[in-house]
Amino acid sequence: MYALMTTFCPLQAALHKMWTRQLYRKVLHCHLTRSTQPHRHVSRWVKLSAVRAASTTHSTGVLASLQVTQGDHVHIRDVGHVEQVLGNIAAGGREKLQVISDFDHTLSRSTHNGVRLPMTHDLVKDSRFISELNQKKTSEIWRYYYPREVSTTLPLHEKIPLMVEFWNKIHNIFLASDLSRQAVRAIVRENDTRLRDACDTFMSVLHKNDVPLLVFSAGLGDVIHEMFEKHGLTFPNCHVVSNFMTFDDAGKVVGFSDPLIHICNKNRSVLPDDTYFLKEKERTNVILLGDSLNDLQMADGVPQMDQILTIGYLNRHLERLQDFTEAFDIVLVQDETMDVANAILEKIVGSDG
Ligand SMILES: [Mg+2]
Repeated sequence: MYALMTTFCPLQAALHKMWTRQLYRKVLHCHLTRSTQPHRHVSRWVKLSAVRAASTTHSTGVLASLQVTQGDHVHIRDVGHVEQVLGNIAAGGREKLQVISDFDHTLSRSTHNGVRLPMTHDLVKDSRFISELNQKKTSEIWRYYYPREVSTTLPLHEKIPLMVEFWNKIHNIFLASDLSRQAVRAIVRENDTRLRDACDTFMSVLHKNDVPLLVFSAGLGDVIHEMFEKHGLTFPNCHVVSNFMTFDDAGKVVGFSDPLIHICNKNRSVLPDDTYFLKEKERTNVILLGDSLNDLQMADGVPQMDQILTIGYLNRHLERLQDFTEAFDIVLVQDETMDVANAILEKIVGSDG
């Protein structure tokens, strides 16, 4: 993809920037229309130097007391806004808080020792349960669709049907393979799966404080559950919305849950109903974590949202820093830990939390 971007003509580059702005404004619009209090309005295109100038080094409030937010890899476009939101969320305490997070490369690690780690679909497609021929087919499918998935130049109306095709083709190969409940478990157990460092602390603190965690993923929910179980992080306050396999009586995979969740529709449209968010309607303060601009849609279903603090993990494609800094309140560049989220959480629930 990067190689493609470097060959852009000026017109393509202009279209690319225009599309990115459109996506961001669409996401921001969702925030504005779902919130009872207006979210900050960002309409100007800030230069990276300006972004850096507005870093946490100028903070004298809550952020200044969080040592982990002082690093060079932490980018905050509007320190004042983050100070205000964080202060309001902290004042609301654990009772008003809910957390919404992406899974792949957000709760899970993106890399380890410089090597990119697999996402939930990768674990299955590259497993011993998929034949050599089918692995070859999935590789071809991936080669065609993945650049389109991460493309910031492809218009949404063209991208969405492609993403549906992408996941359906992969899922059909899974269905044609010898996959079962036991196989999924074996795949997770046999692989060196890794959650982001201190993710166990993050999830344990949320559990201990009865703060609901919604994991919203376009990956595979069965793999996510297995990973949480493998890492001893199965908690009742954690609810996973994702693509789940359906099994027959013998445990063989025979289908996938409907609707299909892909990178472009991770929002209220794929929730079965409003039950989850209505149950948590008193929790009007949200911390949202993601590693894609599309993840910002995950909180669309929250009724009467008061405050939202968004944390974006920029794992790679560092040329997107400006896009990320415009879209997320706090951007963490190549940070494979949950240290910042944990420090923020401690501010809200207290150090004894
Ligand atoms: Mg992700």
